[in-house]
Amino acid sequence: MLTVGVDVGGTSVRAGVVDADGTVLDTARAATPGQDTALESAIVGVIAELAARHPVCAVGLALAGFVTPDRRVVRFAPHLPWRGVPVADRIAERCALPVVIEHDANAAALAERRFGAASGSGARARSILFIALGTGIGAALLIDGRLYRGAHGVAPELGHLRVVPDGRPCPCGKRGCWERYCSGTALVTTLVELLAADPSASPTLARMAKLEARGITGRQVATAARDGDPLGRRAMAELARWLGEGLALVADVYDPELVVIGGGVSGSATLFLDDAREHYARVVTGGQHRPLARIRTAQLGEEGGVIGAAELAREARSRR
Ligand SMILES: [Zn+2]
Repeated sequence: MLTVGVDVGGTSVRAGVVDADGTVLDTARAATPGQDTALESAIVGVIAELAARHPVCAVGLALAGFVTPDRRVVRFAPHLPWRGVPVADRIAERCALPVVIEHDANAAALAERRFGAASGSGARARSILFIALGTGIGAALLIDGRLYRGAHGVAPELGHLRVVPDGRPCPCGKRGCWERYCSGTALVTTLVELLAADPSASPTLARMAKLEARGITGRQVATAARDGDPLGRRAMAELARWLGEGLALVADVYDPELVVIGGGVSGSATLFLDDAREHYARVVTGGQHRPLARIRTAQLGEEGGVIGAAELAREARSRR
């Protein structure tokens, strides 16, 4: 049974045909339009393209936003035009296939549990915290093997936990949110602060920051750190510290067995993950007297959302 997973991102709509083993057999993509009906047409377009080439029987959509508990309506998505829109029904009607919606971090977490970093051989972890480090933080929580969505379908919004009182301002309106200190965006903010304090500490990055019209990117900071640039390394060390601190905060509430770090920044995990583990062990309550969560990187990369959404579509279809 083949299903389609669609990752509806702020810049592109990526779709894939996925089989029961989580293998992506074919893909299609389109740019994300800014208007709601145009966005729906773009999604229907990529689904139709794949359905013309494969016998698919259901569709799952993954997106960063608040979805109602029945998984049919998008309440709010910061980078997409939908506000209280019955997206699942609209797309289902137009492509004549059953459609389910899921938060993208939930979809990626589920994919990692079924097919990736948390799948293991026989010893599948049951309490898993998934953290995607990208522009911000996407988070998902599996408790006893099931996605935890909270009473209103919006949990867990961990990126906006306040880790620094009166800290860096966040677009959400608060200050000191975790993702302001631990994300690709945070790497850049930290670097800019370090450069302002001492531009001579990294002539390379100082020059790059001046030349780039749109500013330096988190990826460039990571590359500089990998090449041994002192400020790039300090920015990474800061990220590692805040990753450990934040994970300790969350672990005090949920005591996960396994933490999976995904998102674009996880590609640079060799530069920060060991440090983050140390910070975590130091800060988590009673760290010397309890088993510590294993912390590892995601295995499915940016296809996790597509694979997870397709898997949810398969589950929904087999329940019918
Ligand atoms: Zn915030």
